[in-house]
Formats: sequence, C-alpha cells, structure tokens
Amino acid sequence: MGTWEQAHDNAERAQLRCPVCGGVDFEQQEGRMDSRWGVTSHRLVLMICLRCRLVLQFSAGRGIFDFD
Ligand SMILES: [Zn+2]
Repeated sequence: MGTWEQAHDNAERAQLRCPVCGGVDFEQQEGRMDSRWGVTSHRLVLMICLRCRLVLQFSAGRGIFDFD
C-alpha cells in the first residue's frame, strides 16, 4: 500500500473520462498535499484533463479515486 507505482497503476487502470468535458486525454503528475498539522504529507497522483484542465486526484496512500 501507498507506493507511487500502485497509485500510477490505479490511475492508469481507471480508464478515465473527464466528468466535465468527457475528454479521455490526461496529463499525469505527482503531487503532495500537506496535512493540516504539517506532520504527515499526503501523496497524490494528479490526472489533469488536457481539454478543460480539470484535476482529478488519486491518493497514493489509499488508491481510491476521489470525486469531490
Ligand atoms: Zn475535461
């Protein structure tokens, strides 16, 4: 659990379709989100829609796809 490989794998296997514009082309980036207390940082794989720039986030810690 919690490896970059796993997060990238999840992101790629999801066969993404952008919920906003329906695009299927995404740019993949690694990101990091600090917790409120600055003790731990949350690793994220970001999938950015090339058509509308919507950013979808995959947690590298949980491997769960979050639609906020
Ligand atoms: Zn889009």
